[in-house]
Amino acid sequence: MSHNDFQFIEVQRVDPTKVEKAKRTEQFIEIYQPMDAEQSVSQSDRCLDCGNPYCEWKCPVHNYIPQWLDLAKQGRINEAAELCHQTNSLPEVCGRVCPQDRLCEGACTLNDDFGAVTIGSMEKYIVDTAFEQGWRPDLSEVINTGKTVAVIGAGPAGLACADVLIRNGINPVVYDRNSQIGGLLTFGIPEFKLQKSVMARRREIFESMGVQFKLEVEVGKDITFEQLEQQYDAVFLGLGAYKPLSLSLPSDDSAAQSEASEQQALPYLIANTSHIHKFSQTTADYVDMKDKSVVVLGGGDTAMDCVRTAIRQGAKSVTCAYRRDRENMPGSDREVTNAMEEGVEFMWYVQPLKVENDDNGKVTGLTLIKTELGEPDANGRRRPQNIEGSEFTVDADAIVVAFGFQPEKPDWLDSAKVNFNQWNECEAFDNSEYPMQTSNPKVFAVCDIVVGADLIVTAIAQGRKAAEGIVDMLEDMG
Ligand code: FAD
Ligand code: SF4
Repeated sequence: MSHNDFQFIEVQRVDPTKVEKAKRTEQFIEIYQPMDAEQSVSQSDRCLDCGNPYCEWKCPVHNYIPQWLDLAKQGRINEAAELCHQTNSLPEVCGRVCPQDRLCEGACTLNDDFGAVTIGSMEKYIVDTAFEQGWRPDLSEVINTGKTVAVIGAGPAGLACADVLIRNGINPVVYDRNSQIGGLLTFGIPEFKLQKSVMARRREIFESMGVQFKLEVEVGKDITFEQLEQQYDAVFLGLGAYKPLSLSLPSDDSAAQSEASEQQALPYLIANTSHIHKFSQTTADYVDMKDKSVVVLGGGDTAMDCVRTAIRQGAKSVTCAYRRDRENMPGSDREVTNAMEEGVEFMWYVQPLKVENDDNGKVTGLTLIKTELGEPDANGRRRPQNIEGSEFTVDADAIVVAFGFQPEKPDWLDSAKVNFNQWNECEAFDNSEYPMQTSNPKVFAVCDIVVGADLIVTAIAQGRKAAEGIVDMLEDMG
């Protein structure tokens, strides 16, 4: 195939078409439509094949991006999918939900002047197309070692660990308290970003590779950690971070607080997904925002998922209140654009002070104070400061708090000789002899439970790294 060196000028970056707004704001369906074959060729041909690909360095799993784009350009989709899987256990998921603007595409040489190559959409296209054509990972050359590992948590970290283990002849058994695999991919992230059929297909693929799932089994309740430690050659912890970083807002009626005050983001999202799909998890937390004026507090991916969920539930108005501005939001800018298109209002530079209630304890509004950016904090981000005397109140029927999550040490690990630090983060280091090994040599841990809430792709990167540590350790033990 001839290569046009100036393709990136002649062919503009084209993102996949979005579903029309009327449908988008009513239905929980993925909003990006699939790329077509012609578009995939012209978009992948925009890649400059830089000698030192910054995109690859910036991608936490260091995907071989220019190489798989080149294969896709030649229509060699199955080979491209094979290459995608060499570095990433869930490439079709990352293609959909990575904040590419902050990762691979943000680092693309073309980003500033011509528009980055559509790396995420191409990753999704390659893997979805290969699966549709019947391609499946080939493990026929793998020799089974007979070793077994208990993987606790079927989120992206646990799945990535299981993927690398099975490809190295080690048999993972994945335990999860949920009825479906995926962790937050299935229960936290709404369908408009990642449709649930993607994870259902992944489950079939992992099972056909030999990964075993034991679902609706909660470690510490249905089975003890000690049983797992005795039964398996190693144990992997990919438990996630579920404790909300809460800002307890005073309310007019503290007695009625539990019924009337703010709603936490994750239970709201999980209950909505469980309600729609009739998953066996409890939907007691289900809240319908129909006809309500909703204010969501926070500026990350979780906040964007909440505002867009409330829109689809038929809220009268949805406002996102954030203490910095759009440029300084922690979430993906693409999701802010999508939220704005769907009718979400944004209030920048505001900090919540107090939930307002009526005599029955029902939420009637929120008092906020305006902020301005002050001196940078330890991470270099300018800290918002309240502007004295700038308090104001907005009407609201529902307040959703989306301030992020922190890890929590489970009680059932008390006797496991696994060290946690003062922030309840499990101590496991990627530069140890066996990466991600904890103070208990048989136990490995990663991601949200180790560093606090982060991204799917970092969970995958660390799950894979821990699996490599386990493989090395079991090999050395003979
Ligand atoms: P999880 O996905 O939380 O999985 C942990 C699993 O462990 C769960 O299935 C849980 O049931 C199981 N488990 C825990 N304890 C036990 C036990 N005792 N016994 C059995 N099972 C147990 N990241 C992005 O990159 N892009 C996004 O767009 C994005 N959006 C997000 C939206 C929301 C609402 C949230 C909350 C997070 C989002 N994230 C996003 C972050 C991302 O989802 C997480 O960083 C990632 O899922 C962490 O993976 P994990 O495997 O460590 O944990
Ligand atoms: Fe980009 Fe994420 Fe894919 Fe890496 S895994 S290439 S960061 S979309």
